Amino acid sequence: MIIVMRKGATKEQCIALEERIREAGLEPHVIHGTERNVYGAVGDERVITEQFFEVCEGVERVMPILAPYKLASVEVKPEKTAIQLGSSLIGGQRIGIIAGPCSVESRAGIIEAAQMVKEAGAIALRGGAYKPRTNPYAFQGLQEEGLEYLAEAREATGLPVVTEVLSPEGVEIVAKFADVLQVGARNMQNFLLLKALGNTQKPVLLKRGMSATIQELLFAAEYILSAGNPNVILCERGIRTFEDHTRNTLSLSSIPALRERTHLPVLADPSHGTGHASLVGPMSKAAIAAGADGLIIEVHPHPEKALVDGAQSLNPQQFIQLMKELKPLAQAVGREM
Ligand code: PEP
Ligand code: MN
Repeated sequence: MIIVMRKGATKEQCIALEERIREAGLEPHVIHGTERNVYGAVGDERVITEQFFEVCEGVERVMPILAPYKLASVEVKPEKTAIQLGSSLIGGQRIGIIAGPCSVESRAGIIEAAQMVKEAGAIALRGGAYKPRTNPYAFQGLQEEGLEYLAEAREATGLPVVTEVLSPEGVEIVAKFADVLQVGARNMQNFLLLKALGNTQKPVLLKRGMSATIQELLFAAEYILSAGNPNVILCERGIRTFEDHTRNTLSLSSIPALRERTHLPVLADPSHGTGHASLVGPMSKAAIAAGADGLIIEVHPHPEKALVDGAQSLNPQQFIQLMKELKPLAQAVGREM
């Protein structure tokens, strides 16, 4: 249920409404507007009618939320959400580029990558310390040591760091070092992980599962939001199809489709979305044209030596060139970079 308070409703009226919402077995989530507060009353609302809240003092309007995901939906919050990432915003007017290697491989390597992507205009550094690998014998990441190197790279450059967390037990340690906690495609429906992330206030970069629908992605976001963390960034990273000339099929139409359904920022990952460095530039441009709020791109100082995902990683020259080419494109679609 969406409950819109009157302009000038008092604090006492708001508190009374929150109690009424809880009495109905629902959870109140308030959106503080400049002129009035709007409440999302979230939970199983089948047994409750609009009248139950209309009688409360200070209430102007009550409407059911039609989308099955509630807090993620534009019905609850029509204006876009922008999330602070270091000194930048993701989801505002500016397109934000997050870049770095697939995995943290060494202290010197991640610091070199951080300096390079910063110089080129990235707003955050990516790098996996815990890697979810298909092959159990493949490099699993430097783990805690990798987190320490990421923190050093942030120290050296001022760039916030984005890194993956694999399990609910890992949330505490990753949150201690990282600025944004990434949920990988393979974990999009790890509901215990999503709930654990809902208990922090750190921004979460939630990647679409490779066989997940848009609605399932929004339900995954809803797990985090409903557990109390409003800072969710969605990421389209490609889905599995019959096509095998690319690693995944970057589902670009999901970007405007998500825009129609949610206020949350939407990024695209053209690296995992294609699997080939030569396709990253064109798909980066296409994603921005489709309305993405930013990109997460794999960049490696020496892709030929990368321990993970070298084939899809841009080298520094390619990344610098792409950043130059994205600027006018962002302007052409009414954004800045
Ligand atoms: C990654 O970004 O490092 C990654 C593993 O991506 P995905 O979860 O989208 O495969
Ligand atoms: Mn990768």
